[in-house]
Amino acid sequence: MLDNVRIVLVNTSDQRNIGSAARAMKTMGLSDLVLVSPEEMPEGKAQALAAGATDVLAKARIVATLEEAIADCQLVMATSARNRTLDWPQQTPREAGERTVREGGQGRVALIFGREASGLTNEELQLSQFHIHIPANPDYSSLNLAMAVQTISYEVRMAWLAQQAAQHAPQQDTEELTEYPNGDDLEGFYGHLDRCLLGSGFIIRKHPGQIMSKLRRLFTRARPDKNELNILRGVLASFERHFDKPEPK
Ligand code: SAH
Repeated sequence: MLDNVRIVLVNTSDQRNIGSAARAMKTMGLSDLVLVSPEEMPEGKAQALAAGATDVLAKARIVATLEEAIADCQLVMATSARNRTLDWPQQTPREAGERTVREGGQGRVALIFGREASGLTNEELQLSQFHIHIPANPDYSSLNLAMAVQTISYEVRMAWLAQQAAQHAPQQDTEELTEYPNGDDLEGFYGHLDRCLLGSGFIIRKHPGQIMSKLRRLFTRARPDKNELNILRGVLASFERHFDKPEPK
């Protein structure tokens, strides 16, 4: 399960934080690190701070966009030093750890961390299903990046240990788990919805307003499973067939 948990660092400016994050991950049993266009490549300074976790650093993948980093993930949660930046579904670190362990058994989970100076943009935050805020001192709530990685990774480990203990107890829960769409499927759906809303004239290209963000929030809250998302795609396709002049892609 822990192999299914990915830590994503977006646009890090200081490579030392990448090294410290790798170390934080390894202490908690995590090893899948993805770096979205880091400003400094992880080299000597990162290795020094990674200490015994240089293997995690060496295995880290570097990608150009956050979309690429989460394309194969069925659960995406993004951390924010600010409380309730957007009105988005929230999880406490503890709930996030438990959810990671619950859903990580059958799909990949991404935990996203932002830039040292400015965190994540609203667009980046909206690529996740849940936001996680570490309830720190409200007068000074911004943790060092690697320490935020440590805190969340610790919660994942605690939840995982609790699950291990429960599995050895009698009377297992055999309830079927829902299969959720991954980041690629979701972006495919939002792209399709956007094209339909432009094609139908509901959204005017020059004045799109907040409609797509609000619809994203609605679907994020509802969290359609794979089958439901396929139905929604089918609904859109059936509408599209009736447009006089569909908008080009
Ligand atoms: N000034 C930035 C702080 C970024 S701190 C801002 O206001 O957003 C760098 C990253 O560490 C954040 O993007 C987040 O991923 C993580 N982080 C720091 N403090 C956190 C907190 N209290 N809760 C959750 N994540 C936090």
